[in-house]
Parts: sequence; structure tokens; C-alpha cells
Amino acid sequence: MINYGRQSISTGDIDAVVDVLKSDFLTTGPAVQKFEERISTLVNAPHSIVCSNATAALHLACLALGVNESSRVWTSANSFVSSANCARMCGASIDFFDVDVKTGNVDLEKLKAKLKKASEQGELPDVLIPVHFSGRPVDMAAFSAIVSPYKIRVIEDASHAIGASTLSGSVGDCEYSDVTVFSFHPVKIITTGEGGCCTTQSAELAEKIRSLRSHGVHRNIPEFSSLSGELWEYEQTELGFNYRLTDIQAALGSSQLKRIKDFVGKRREVAEQYEALLKGVCELPPSDQQYSSWHLYCVRFENADQRRRVYNKLREHQIFAQVHYIPIYKQPYYRKLGFSEDYLPGAEQWYNQCLSLPMHTELSNENLQQISTIVESEQV
Ligand SMILES: *Cc1c(COP(=O)(O)O)cnc(C)c1O
Repeated sequence: MINYGRQSISTGDIDAVVDVLKSDFLTTGPAVQKFEERISTLVNAPHSIVCSNATAALHLACLALGVNESSRVWTSANSFVSSANCARMCGASIDFFDVDVKTGNVDLEKLKAKLKKASEQGELPDVLIPVHFSGRPVDMAAFSAIVSPYKIRVIEDASHAIGASTLSGSVGDCEYSDVTVFSFHPVKIITTGEGGCCTTQSAELAEKIRSLRSHGVHRNIPEFSSLSGELWEYEQTELGFNYRLTDIQAALGSSQLKRIKDFVGKRREVAEQYEALLKGVCELPPSDQQYSSWHLYCVRFENADQRRRVYNKLREHQIFAQVHYIPIYKQPYYRKLGFSEDYLPGAEQWYNQCLSLPMHTELSNENLQQISTIVESEQV
């Protein structure tokens, strides 16, 4: 069986987890702090706050930016539901921006027009959540040039994109955003089983996210207002959650992070092999992607019928491609909020034509040959 994504676990990873199991702390111990420091170093952001998953991290990022019932949040229609759910968890209204059918990433021209219209109507969003789809970085400098005339906060959903970079730096350095979020689900670039992370340049946002990650409880004794200063005391000052990552997971994460360059390098090799094998067979990802983390390898077909035939044929051979994504507004939950079934043309076209071929670090040359032969055989 070949899945579209899977983890790569080494004996070093297993040893790192076993070491924690034999140690004093299974959670809230030194492995979490070490993992956070390693992420900060990798992406060049002073603050990293790891969480139980990326959905929790997105929720905390929204809360830290003050998203509430009176807020408006926009995200990409071509994403996993979490990118929008995080706003709804805070009670905010949600809207979606359209994507470029060549990349599946935000269409900046359309975003510019949508913002202009919203501005004229007095309905500008408070927060935008661009998604680095497939690991290909959104051009955040260009994004920022469009968004910065307005007072809008930005959360980057980089669930696909740890290890990705642009000419100006690493995804996650928050040069053009308030917070960046990563996911460590097993299909993503590195894994902790379940896990996620917020990175930020703001000490204030980091402290807020840290507090909300653990019940809204502070242990910072000098700041206590209502307590007498005894050493056992703690104080809850706001309503938080238990969104912590365990030390078991963090140790796995740190161990995985040591291999991130190899992981991304191997993914790039797979992408190059696909490109060589499938050139002229279907529409391939644009090849200007030397900085992508290559979470997904998405090809596009002429139409939905052709895509379905390829998907089914692969499946007959126990090869499980995937479609990323059903536009979020099509989900019954979002339809009930009033979105029409074919709300955004770019997202519709992308959804009708795209297919994510298997992309992970354990694919062999034979696997790629077999997949490509099947894709080609359905092209008539
Ligand atoms: C995987 C993913 C998430 C959610 O990640 P979890 O860690 O599973 O909560 C959010 N956004 C995008 C774009 C994703 O791909």
C-alpha cells in the first residue's frame, strides 16, 4: 500500500522517545523547551510555543490576536477546515479568498480587489490567514504590500511548510506576519504523532499564547494580584485550554527536526523525478519551487472525469492519491453559514482538476515509476 503521505521514523527517533519515558517528566519538562528552542533556531523566530496540534495552535493564535464574536477573519478556500474553524472557535465571522489555479495558493490580484471592496463597504477583515499550500511559500512580501495599507493582523498557516523558505528567509520567521503555525501530523514534513507550533517575533503574543495553552494559568508569583505570594500558588486570569504537547512528543519532534534538511531534500528529489516522468502527461506544479518543503505533489488534469479515472486506477493498485482540498465553503457546516456551493471560481477549478500524488521520503524509484505509468495509462 502506498499512501499520499507518511512519516519516516528512525531508531534515533525511537531512542529519543524511550529516553523520555525513562525520565522524570512525561509532560511540561525539558524536552518541550528544547524542541521549542530548536524550532526557533531553524525558522529564525525568537519565540516558539508548541501545542497539541496545529488546529489548537491556530485557535490560540486567533485568541492572542483578540479574535472574538465581533471579528472578521478571511482564509484561503483551498485549505483544510482548521484554517477556518479556528476563527469560528472564537465566534468570529469567516470569509474566504480565492486561489491561483497554477499553484493552489492565494490569488493576490483577487485578494487586492476583495480588500478594496471590503474597505469601501466598511467590512475589512481583522485577521487574514494565508496558507502556504503544498509547502510552496506564499510571496509574503507581495502579500504584505497588498495588506499593509489596512490595519489587518496576519497568521500564516504553514502547516505544510516547515523547512520551506523564500529569498528573504525561512517560513516561520514572521517577517510579514504576527504568528506562524506549523503542524506535526504524520503526513506533514516532521511529526510528533499529533502536534503543532506557533512562532512569533512578539514577546507579548508569545506570553499570551503560552498562558492560553495551559488553562490561562500563570505561575509568575510577583505578578499575582489576589494571592499572598506563597510558593505553591498559581493564578488563573483568563479562560485557557489544555493544548500542551507532551515531552514524549517533543523528544520525537527534536529528533525529527535534526533530519529536516534530508527530509525536504528527499521530497525535492521525488518532485524532480515526477517532473521527469510526467512531463507532457498532465499539468505539473510550476518548477520555480526550489524553496518549497514539498509537502504535496499536486498535478492537474483537464477535467474532473480524467482526474477520477486516474484516482480510481491508482486505488486499484493500492496507491492512495488524495484531493487537496474540497473548498472549505462547500462543507455542510459552512454552507449553513450562507456560502454558495460554487462560491469561488479558482478554488472550484482547482478542486475539479487537482490530484496529490504520493509524496513522502520513503518512496522508491520503482514506486514512482509504477505511479507514473498508471497516471500515463489513463491519459487517452
Ligand atoms: C494539517 C493541517 C492543519 C491541521 O493540523 P493538525 O495538526 O492536524 O491540527 C491545518 N491547516 C492545514 C493547511 C493543514 O494541512
